[in-house]
Amino acid sequence: MSEHILIAVAWPYANSHIHVGNITGSYLPADIFARYHRLAGNQVIMVSGSDSHGTPVTVRADAEDVTAYQVYQKYHAGFLELYQKLGLYYDLFTSTHTENHFKVSQSIFLALQKNNYLYSEHQLQWFSPTQGRFLPDRYVEGTCYVCGYANARGDQCDQCGSLLDATQLINPHSKIDGSRPELRDTEHFYLDLGALEPAIIAFLRQREGYWRPNVLRQSLGQILANGLHGRAITRDLDWGIPVPVEGWEGKCLYVWFEAVIGYLSASIEWAQLTNQADAWERWWLDPNAKSYYFIGKDNIPFHAVIWPGQLLGAGEWFGKLFYGKEGARLTLPYDVPANEFLNLEGRKISGSRNWAVWGLDFLSRYDPDPLRYYLTVNMPETKDTDWDWDGFVSRNNDELVATWGNLANRVLSFAYKHWEGYVPEPGELRLDDQEILAQVDSGFQSASEHLSAVRLRAGLGEAMRLAAEVNKYLDKTAPWFEIKSDKSSAAKSIYTALRAIDSLKILFAPFLPFSSERLNTYLGFSQPLFGEQFLETVTDNLGEHTVLRYRPANASGRWQPSQLPAGQALNQPQALFRKLDPSVASEERAHIGT
Ligand SMILES: [Zn+2]
Repeated sequence: MSEHILIAVAWPYANSHIHVGNITGSYLPADIFARYHRLAGNQVIMVSGSDSHGTPVTVRADAEDVTAYQVYQKYHAGFLELYQKLGLYYDLFTSTHTENHFKVSQSIFLALQKNNYLYSEHQLQWFSPTQGRFLPDRYVEGTCYVCGYANARGDQCDQCGSLLDATQLINPHSKIDGSRPELRDTEHFYLDLGALEPAIIAFLRQREGYWRPNVLRQSLGQILANGLHGRAITRDLDWGIPVPVEGWEGKCLYVWFEAVIGYLSASIEWAQLTNQADAWERWWLDPNAKSYYFIGKDNIPFHAVIWPGQLLGAGEWFGKLFYGKEGARLTLPYDVPANEFLNLEGRKISGSRNWAVWGLDFLSRYDPDPLRYYLTVNMPETKDTDWDWDGFVSRNNDELVATWGNLANRVLSFAYKHWEGYVPEPGELRLDDQEILAQVDSGFQSASEHLSAVRLRAGLGEAMRLAAEVNKYLDKTAPWFEIKSDKSSAAKSIYTALRAIDSLKILFAPFLPFSSERLNTYLGFSQPLFGEQFLETVTDNLGEHTVLRYRPANASGRWQPSQLPAGQALNQPQALFRKLDPSVASEERAHIGT
């Protein structure tokens, strides 16, 4: 039975390039999960975009002496390039700086207001006397009043993960000029999370059985310990979405409030771009549709608590305000499989200190599949993990090349050479042949159980384990020797191995799509496993934005065991992966942090 699966991927801030920690934290797991579900025949939309507003972008604009719009455009273009090169197949990767997103966000705001989940309050906000303006929370740093960490941001502490009230920071100073700000009065709207608390707790209780423990700890656990309190959702800033209320000119929706709404607005934009304007409803109004939010652990409170609160609070008013639909309620997150952090050579990744491996830079020297492989076997699913360059080289050489790449290459080359480029006719298979095929076939069930529960490392481990089993089978049957005395016996072994490889191609495809596509061609298939990505420029009243889209077109990959026909014409095979010289590890290490 085909399911509707929404894959909601963290929105990268358009103020920095993307490093391997970001990739394995949310973008890559989302793509693996999406590809698996597409192969399994489910109805997938995977959406995200550039988080283009708010102070992360204006801080960068101030530093580079350009406009916030220019900063957003520059980094957005970098994301599009990286995602194409890494094969992250978004159905839509857009931006928050679109007319559609403005409208959807303002509708959610007004729906919350209709349901009395908003209130306004005067508050004290840090004001910079030297700059003559209010300072957004991110412009103020100081000591965390929860854990004592000295470099906490105004909105959140990177050390203990607490969401902070900026006005309570100890020793506050302006991030722009280091001066000491003063507190002044301003008026803002608040989301009444206290009033939403019972509904949010009920929502989380329903998910206790299957959510990751850390996600539950940082959502349900935090609420039960500390309760929920109103949180300001507007701010004194001109780069963002205007508050849709008369008399509130010059104030914007807080970026954390509107960016999460992007999952909904991007789904709506995807439907418009595919000329089926109401199609998004199948993922957002059907209670049976499942939505998965792929994010890093620093974003858990926003996705597991506040976003569900916004959805619950908007209730039926969103549909009425947005397009006159009665009785519609938006679907709540099914799972938030947040990852922990990836460190680099034993230390926390820091973009500003260049203690990072940058995605585009890496792909200028290496192929995408080895990156996807290493980041999956090392994915921080349950605890922090570490990128080390020696580990990257040895995993590439000992596993990707030795276990999987060589298996595919030597069998294909041998078949190509000895059976004139055709899949050999095996006659009746022997017991050993049938056993290895049954073992590989059973991998579709076992890997599927792991993948559908978002245990991606285990899913990949299953495929690699089966590749090792096929190697053992070949060590035993040794067709390279069989052929000298008994070609029909060698034909059985090679046919069996080819069929196993044809199955493994699918089991590896969510993780290693580039090499699986090539292998698919070598095996003689003319239709690709997946569809294709393309860029499109969309024009609206805010200007132009370029989006990345996915076209399923001729996608032929199916999550099912190989039916490889004897006699199929093969294509000249080539090695799937490159062996790396161990010296690259020390060369790469020398460039980190400089
Ligand atoms: Zn702290």
